[in-house]
Amino acid sequence: MTAYKHKKQLGQHFLHDPSYLGRIVAAIRPEPDDLMVEIGPGQGALTRPLLERLKHLHVVEIDRDLIAWLGQAFPAERLTVHAADALKFDFASLGTSLRVVGNLPYNISSPLLFHLAEYAQGVVDMHFMLQKEVVDRMAAAPDTPDYGRLSVMLQARFRVMKLFNVPPGAFNPPPKVDSAVVRLVPKPAEAIPYRDARRFGEIVARAFGQRRKTLRNTLKGLVEPDVFESLGIDPQRRGETLSVEEFSRLANHPA
Ligand code: SAM
Repeated sequence: MTAYKHKKQLGQHFLHDPSYLGRIVAAIRPEPDDLMVEIGPGQGALTRPLLERLKHLHVVEIDRDLIAWLGQAFPAERLTVHAADALKFDFASLGTSLRVVGNLPYNISSPLLFHLAEYAQGVVDMHFMLQKEVVDRMAAAPDTPDYGRLSVMLQARFRVMKLFNVPPGAFNPPPKVDSAVVRLVPKPAEAIPYRDARRFGEIVARAFGQRRKTLRNTLKGLVEPDVFESLGIDPQRRGETLSVEEFSRLANHPA
């Protein structure tokens, strides 16, 4: 596929450095019978080495030119191509014990991570290449500049492990930013700290909506003033100082 013109609006930066491709596949450790889906296979840079280890692979790709090319480049019994927008794709339709991988389009990474988090219970693990800055936010600890809604929402449901950085030169065309590979492993249901996902999400969104404001202000109407005291959480604190566990205590009240 030599004459292919990259579509910037689809975040197309194709990996070409064999040493980084090798490191990613080594981190994923595919086993022949794994049920795996790759998001955004592009020109198959990762697809190919994955298929050297797997009997079969699903891919979800939105670009019609690439979908047609993938269908010709790989035998249908080894690669199932889902012509779809990953943001709307029903990952549960592939089955349970699913492994998810991908060098993701950076322009939709946050909404895609929130979409994938909804399938956490049916997933074994996820390995993604993302903008380094996004991976730093995903893995950030409370009271650090990178800590925010993405950190809390993902860390509540997954163990988040940053694996290694990848420089722009590993891609064609090179992106303007550094990248990093991250592993997400869903927590077992009994380790999820909140009971009501919707209320937890609402509290976290409000607490980070106005980062400079105190919890007393941002959570007005959601958490009564006396509740803070009974939970031992100072309402003068700002959301960015709260741990995942403290957010869960607020969401779970009354216990
Ligand atoms: N995996 C390839 C590689 O590493 O060389 C390509 C990675 S490239 C960063 C992102 C890929 O995601 C492109 O193939 C692009 O067409 C595809 N893509 C972009 N938006 C998408 C979406 N909403 N759903 C599915 N695929 C998408």
